[in-house]
Parts: sequence; C-alpha cells; structure tokens
Amino acid sequence: MTRVFSGVKPTGHLTLGNYLGAMRRWVAVDQHRSDALFCVVDLHALTVDHDPARVRRLSRQAASLLLATGLDPELCTVFVQSHVDEHARLSYLLECVATDGEMRRMIQYKEKAPRERSRGGSVRLSLLTYPVLMAADILAYGTDEVPVGDDQTQHVELARDLAVRFNQRYGHTFVVPRATSPGSAARVMNLQDPASKMGKSDDAGPGIVYLLDEPDVVRRKVMRAVTDSGSDVVYDREERPGLANLLEILAACTGGDPAELAGGYDSYGALKKDTAEAVVEVLRPVQERHKELCADPGYVDGVLREGAGKARAAARPTVDAAYRAIGL
Ligand code: ADP
Repeated sequence: MTRVFSGVKPTGHLTLGNYLGAMRRWVAVDQHRSDALFCVVDLHALTVDHDPARVRRLSRQAASLLLATGLDPELCTVFVQSHVDEHARLSYLLECVATDGEMRRMIQYKEKAPRERSRGGSVRLSLLTYPVLMAADILAYGTDEVPVGDDQTQHVELARDLAVRFNQRYGHTFVVPRATSPGSAARVMNLQDPASKMGKSDDAGPGIVYLLDEPDVVRRKVMRAVTDSGSDVVYDREERPGLANLLEILAACTGGDPAELAGGYDSYGALKKDTAEAVVEVLRPVQERHKELCADPGYVDGVLREGAGKARAAARPTVDAAYRAIGL
C-alpha cells in the first residue's frame, strides 16, 4: 500500500491556504487510498523566535483541527512530531549526508533568514537545517508520496536527493519519495498582497483567512481583498494576481474551474461576495467539529497517544537500519 506522509507546522493559526493547499486532499483522498501519517511538526516551530507556551497551545489546536477537517484515526495516523524520537535521531544522520551549500539554496531559508535578521535577531542554525529534519520526517516512514502545496516541493526534492545519496553511499535504506500536488489551490495567496503566499507564520493580518475565523471576519477579509483598478473579471495570474487568487479560492471551494468561473461575473463585488460565502460554507463544518473536540480533550489526547505509538513502530525499523548502514 502506498505510504503517505505530510505535516503542518504549529507556528501560527492554521489558514485557508493550509486547508485548500494540503489538508483537504489529505481528508478527501489520501487517508482513504493509502497508509497515511499526518503530523503536527512542532520541532519545526522552534526554528524561529517563539513563545514555548504558545507553541504548545498551537500544536494542540493544530492536532484538533486536523481531526476537525475530517482525518479519521481509524483510517490514518495523526500524531505530534516531538512525541516520536525517530525524527530527531534520523535528522542527524541526514545532516551527515546533506551539504551546507544545499541548505543555503533553499528558497524558504533565503526568504526567512533576512526576515529574522531584520527583526533584530540572529538566525537559528535550525532554520538553515530545517529541510533536513523535514527529510527525516518523510524518509523515516518509507514514504512514497508527500502531498504538499507548491511552497514545499523544493524541500521534498531535497528529501529525494538525500535518500538517493544515502542509498548510493551506504546501501539501499530509504524509499525515494515524491511530492503530490492538490491542483488548483496549490498556492493560495495573501488577500492583501497577492504576490506572497497566505502563510500562517506571518503576522496576523487582514490578508490571511484563518480556519477558525468567524463568518463575518471571513466576509470582511474577502470583501476587502486587494484586486486592481480594472472592472472586467478575467483569470490572469500574471497580470491580475489578486483577482486570480479570488477565482482560485472560489474554484477550490466550489469544485469549479477558475477561468470558467470568471466568465460568470461582471463585477468584482459579486465575485468577492460569492467567494466569501463559499469560504464560509467550507469552514463551517470544520469549525463545528473543532468546537466539539475542544469539549472533549481526553479524546484528542488519546488519538495523539495512540498515533505516536503507531508512528514510532512504523519509523523505528527504518531509522535503526540507517544507523547500521552508516556504520554505527
Ligand atoms: P505555513 O506556511 O502556513 O507555515 P506549513 O509549512 O505548516 O505552512 O505547511 C502545511 C501545508 O500547507 C504544506 O503542505 C504547505 O505546502 C501547505 N500550504 C501552506 N501555505 C499554503 C498556501 N498559501 N497555499 C497552498 N498551500 C499551502
């Protein structure tokens, strides 16, 4: 059976980008047709300045939201990365296979490191090496497929390269994984700045729709989305990025095609209104289920405990094999 692994970082509240770009597919497709593991990758949240209590709170919220979106612990494994030592164990071995040049070429590092410096801080070494830990997350489970949004494909490529290199040097140990894309919503952009992605780690802003935003907050954010000074509704990612983003969000929420949907509108206002309502409808069941889960913390604890046990058992043979292969 195909092994699928993917994760979400508890660096902020989960966004519509996380949902449309990744989680929705995990629920609708991946958990049904594969042996899938979904992880709250909390070690990755330590790569930037953070408040420990907030990381703990956000990890918990992310786990509840994974379940609220419809991941079913009967069908897949849901767990928290730091509950399973194998990730850190394997990461060190992969650091002995990766190169510093490779790390410095990573787009996310190039984007995030200057941001950390401009906030007056220094750049943590873990921000540079985080793609290696992500490779460990993936390779520890013999993963075949990694369903991620576009922003993560370079990191999955690195995991592939490290797997191939390790196997060539030390004998066949790892399955070589590949990224799979959700299609139309692979890159949901910030509503106020359609040149940058809707990322949860960014400071809370009116351009980011969070999964737990109240309907009126969603409506306000979508109605105020930046478009352009034109008036005709066309789908053009290059020339009309704000409009294209709205059309893609609407398409992702309703199952339509962005270019075809554009033909049905003669004003930005009508498009925004329909997009807002479509987002509200997509979020409604997730928010309802999340509320139920918050009232039953024992259930979430139990799922995460069992998930960590299953994940550990799945990872240990591969990680032990890697230690033996590399000479330990
Ligand atoms: P973030 O950038 O919000 O911190 P994560 O690194 O936790 O996101 O990623 C969780 C999943 O969500 C990944 O598969 C990632 O590709 C996807 N994702 C994140 N932001 C977006 C976005 N704006 N559009 C599409 N997919 C996204």
